[in-house]
Amino acid sequence: MLVREAKLLNGTSNQYKSLDEAIRTAQFIRNKAVRYWIDNQGVDKSRLYKLSKELASEFAFANKLNSSARQASVEVAWTSISNFYRRCKEGAKKKGYPKFKKHCRSVEYKQSGWKLSDDCMSITFTDKFKSGKFSLYCDSETREDLFRLKINRVRIVRRADGYYCQFCLDVQRKESGNYTGNVIGIDLGLKYFYKDQNDHAVVYPQYLRFAEKKLKRLQRQLSKKFVRGKKRCDPASPTGARERAPRQPQSNNYHKARKRLGKCHLKVSRQRKDWSIKQARCVVASNDVVVYEDLKIQNMVKNHHLAKSISDAAWYQFTQWLEYYGKIWDKAVVSVNPKFTSQDCSNCRHRVKKTLSTRTHVCPSCHVEICRDTNAARNILNRGLEIIGIEWNQGTVGHTGTS
Ligand SMILES: [Zn+2]
Repeated sequence: MLVREAKLLNGTSNQYKSLDEAIRTAQFIRNKAVRYWIDNQGVDKSRLYKLSKELASEFAFANKLNSSARQASVEVAWTSISNFYRRCKEGAKKKGYPKFKKHCRSVEYKQSGWKLSDDCMSITFTDKFKSGKFSLYCDSETREDLFRLKINRVRIVRRADGYYCQFCLDVQRKESGNYTGNVIGIDLGLKYFYKDQNDHAVVYPQYLRFAEKKLKRLQRQLSKKFVRGKKRCDPASPTGARERAPRQPQSNNYHKARKRLGKCHLKVSRQRKDWSIKQARCVVASNDVVVYEDLKIQNMVKNHHLAKSISDAAWYQFTQWLEYYGKIWDKAVVSVNPKFTSQDCSNCRHRVKKTLSTRTHVCPSCHVEICRDTNAARNILNRGLEIIGIEWNQGTVGHTGTS
């Protein structure tokens, strides 16, 4: 499946409002489904499908949403329920009990409820919300794909800078990658974004740090303008939750600051995403075997020494994209357990205890002296190669294994 995205332009404010309504209705149905699952025993997916039909006959506004979109929202609810079941089975520490959503941003349509114009320049939403016609703003590649490929699903997404339409296309991306005979072990770190076994380091770019600083400043400005006891959200943007008693809205300046912050978040996350995609693409393109440590990002954020760095988010994306490119180019991307990778000696496996501030690895047993991160990267690589069963002698690589 390939997802292409286009911005929805040239709609009137009423049209955008009806998109909001559709999103809110999808959220309503999702929450109702979760509620029903909580209240009743032995509810399965087909029962929830039935529920979506019942809701449509019970609530007039739910009936306005296209029936396949109603089903899709029930499926969203079912995903969180079945994920909960799965985690219970696995015995995970955090079970992630399904919660009610308050700030949904999207609604999904299947094959009906929308119509693409013949030239693929505009899309019309045809369900009873009567959102009408929007121009599609996208690059030529996306437009070509819309012409060429079968569209399985259409999703409307609200972002800080407008409304977007995502198209889930029916295609498996498969390309032939160039095999280079190289292998790489990656140690993700704070000082460098990552370091490989040959002491080659990639630094987290300065412009992203600046952007994140700006984010902090805007967040500060926003919290200064927040008045306690007043309403939390913009009256114009739907919350889904009904207010118990009418409360005073926040000031206009608060909402201006809120929108500024939202846009900045969007920009930074786009920049970060773009950067991590490029890095991952580069790593997988020039190596046949990529080994990285399977960091538990959530645990790391809890650690306050590390929490200051927002590169956590970038790490996660980076590893996700490594997997992705590994798949489409048929290359081995392996994650290994990070335990003791920075402690053990990569040369003789002697365990050398060190704190976070010890930057060099000095082995008392074999007298090797290298950078701490390089040592970790070598350990990671060794572990990964053990997993896929390739012998690797440091420095000389003769295999192009892609098992
Ligand atoms: Zn050693």
